[in-house]
Amino acid sequence: MTYVIAEPCIGTKDRACVEVCPVDCIHPRVEADKDEIMLYINPVECIDCGACEPVCPVQAIFSEADTPEQWKEYIELNADYFALDRTAFSTLYTPTFPLLGSSASRSASPTTL
Ligand code: SF4
Ligand code: SF4
Repeated sequence: MTYVIAEPCIGTKDRACVEVCPVDCIHPRVEADKDEIMLYINPVECIDCGACEPVCPVQAIFSEADTPEQWKEYIELNADYFALDRTAFSTLYTPTFPLLGSSASRSASPTTL
């Protein structure tokens, strides 16, 4: 199980969740951020503690099982942000997430954590 960041983060991205995550699995970090429009949770590192969920001001964070139907795609999106290089991520998601593609296409290098 993991937690997932969904669409409401876009346009807010205040990093409140980053402050409370005990295992630093929410990325990109400030120093590695190439104008991403949202943050993502690494499902491999997330320990499912739930600390991030209540601090999000826009209710963008859900446990994987409770992710609303309209945002189910964000489960895979979060995972692929860490599994794919930037070009592959952009190519895969630009058709359905145009805003993500515009940020991802700014760098063709593999994701830097
Ligand atoms: S707290 Fe919510 S809005 Fe802020 S960065 Fe985290 S997921 Fe995005
Ligand atoms: S559930 Fe816990 S470990 Fe997972 S992203 Fe949120 S704060 Fe971090």
